[in-house]
Amino acid sequence: MVLFCFLLDQKRIVKKTKPVAGSCSRCRRGASVADIVTKTRFCYIPFYWRSNKAILCTFCGATLKTYP
Ligand SMILES: [Zn+2]
Repeated sequence: MVLFCFLLDQKRIVKKTKPVAGSCSRCRRGASVADIVTKTRFCYIPFYWRSNKAILCTFCGATLKTYP
């Protein structure tokens, strides 16, 4: 018996943010640096877990810069 599961989802959790100098290129509002955890699940089983830092816009949520 072969079972295929095509359920793949990715969740991005912003852990903490801190205001940072600079502004959003889209809406010109304040940007903040955030710790982001990205969880990728396949058939509800987390198999990939990654955390990185990124600069996000606090207003529109745009990712302005990511750090590996
Ligand atoms: Zn923005």
